[in-house]
Amino acid sequence: MKTFKDIYKKAANKIGGIAAAPGIVIGEVYLFTKEKLEVSKADITDVEEAKKNLYDALLRSKKELTKILSIARDKMGHSRAAIFEAQIMVLDDPVLIENIVKRIEEEKKQPEYIVNDEISKYQKMMYDSNESYMKERANDIEDIKNRIVRNLQKKRWQSKIEHDVVVVSETLTPADTLLLSRNKVKSFVMNHGGLTSHAAIISRSLNIPAVVGTRNATQILKDGQTVIVDGFHGYVIYNPSEKQLKFFEQKRNRLVEIQKELEEFTFKPAITKDGKEIQFFANVDVTGEIDMVKTCGAKGIGLYRSEQILDEMGTFPSENEQYKIYSNLATRVFPDPITIRAFDIGGDKFKFFEYDEPNPFLGLRGIRLLLENPKLFKEQIRAVLRASSNRNIKFMLPMISTIGEIRKSKELITQCMNELRKKKIEFDKDMQIGIMVEVPSAAVMTKEFAAEVDFLSIGTNDLIQYLMAVDRGNDLVADLYQEFSPVVLRTIKMIVDDAKLVNKPVSLCGEMAADTLAMPLLVGLGLEILSISPATIPYAKKIITSFKYEDARKLAEKCLSSCYEDEIEKTIEKFFEKNNIVRTRNII
Ligand code: PEP
Ligand code: MG
Repeated sequence: MKTFKDIYKKAANKIGGIAAAPGIVIGEVYLFTKEKLEVSKADITDVEEAKKNLYDALLRSKKELTKILSIARDKMGHSRAAIFEAQIMVLDDPVLIENIVKRIEEEKKQPEYIVNDEISKYQKMMYDSNESYMKERANDIEDIKNRIVRNLQKKRWQSKIEHDVVVVSETLTPADTLLLSRNKVKSFVMNHGGLTSHAAIISRSLNIPAVVGTRNATQILKDGQTVIVDGFHGYVIYNPSEKQLKFFEQKRNRLVEIQKELEEFTFKPAITKDGKEIQFFANVDVTGEIDMVKTCGAKGIGLYRSEQILDEMGTFPSENEQYKIYSNLATRVFPDPITIRAFDIGGDKFKFFEYDEPNPFLGLRGIRLLLENPKLFKEQIRAVLRASSNRNIKFMLPMISTIGEIRKSKELITQCMNELRKKKIEFDKDMQIGIMVEVPSAAVMTKEFAAEVDFLSIGTNDLIQYLMAVDRGNDLVADLYQEFSPVVLRTIKMIVDDAKLVNKPVSLCGEMAADTLAMPLLVGLGLEILSISPATIPYAKKIITSFKYEDARKLAEKCLSSCYEDEIEKTIEKFFEKNNIVRTRNII
């Protein structure tokens, strides 16, 4: 079997770009070019007629956009269609229209020239801003500007493409993307566009694999040529060899198989019979799982264990290497969020430092080790911040046991932000900071700790070991490692209630969340966000849709009043029987 490296590192017939929407497509190139609009600066004599033409063009543009908006709502849902609402709002902006009208009256020039000039001024301000988000929004305004000018010139734009093709273009506006998608387009490849470009977001929403930011795809690719688009990794292979075709056909077929198996539940929300929604995020432990995040219906990555990089590389990555890894990850899940957890080194995990500890699980692990090595911690913080400019990264601190650790970490984060600011490097200044609640002291102090951060995530794997004083990896005491211990349930309940008291979101990302037997109980304890391995998500959704929240709450109440682990487990099993839920524990 050929590996990813064989396919990409050695291939000369490839174009690299940004993986904007996942999927594998093998198809024919359709080079898509749009006529460039020329704007006339000619003088006018009839101001009233020019103003009437302007109002007509505005009205027509609004009609077109309203139609596009309704298609978008149908195909992508209300929140993603909001981009077109924003464009309609530009058309309705009284200040803008007033300025244009005033200039037509004073300068007596063609309205198309004034419209172009006036809207370009807005755009320039946005392009000049340092934020990539604003730059992308300036591109959206280009669409509105061209639409009004085109309507002033009474021109029509055709988007009819007759057969399944890979559309290759310099750039596409959101409206182009949407209209082309109605014409059986299999994939999009663009020279320009970043991850926050709406064309990229729309491709994701419509499930059309896309690669953007290729720089020169339109120069290299020819009409009718066969290409393979890999929307998972951001590559386009042209004139593929037999071997390459075979490799990607296999990959594509496997994807189809997986999707079929999971189809029924994958993209449905997980809602209990009486209407409570539970959100599922993915835990990512190996790089290969990232592709699954999208195909399994996760709302994003709820836990990225960054120490896996050390395992995979066998060495410590530099700040730049880390930046590339985080940025690639954030790009691949965008616009969904990813929670990157700071290196949780120590305990039984990666041994990098030669600390000789008699009790490593109670020693220099997680945040303790990072605060002992601030240079290393700051490299990671800077790498995460640099990768955060698309605003979909959250940063989480492991093994927090004192409030001082939170404050020291926040101080280092502020220092790193100031360093980047000085160098004029873009980052998300509002990046959310959260903590793992996995040490009993953090559980007891949930309210106070939560007040210091933006979110909490319960790590039951460690919480159980520290609550029960039982090594999570030691066979000799494995029967004491009880996730259904009343101690564990009561602690989870306390954390959830206390976090709610201070209005901070709390999720659970330990293995317990993926145990289907535990799911009704966790929901009954008040958890609304669970992060589990991506492959388990469709099964988890199936479980959630099989019971009522109200019954789960009663189940939790009953379990909380019990003092025995085996009694609790039996109570849950009865709940499964009563609700006709097939026990699928550890199915994957
Ligand atoms: C946990 O402790 O529950 C957790 C999610 O972290 P890890 O398993 O990486 O320690
Ligand atoms: Mg842990």
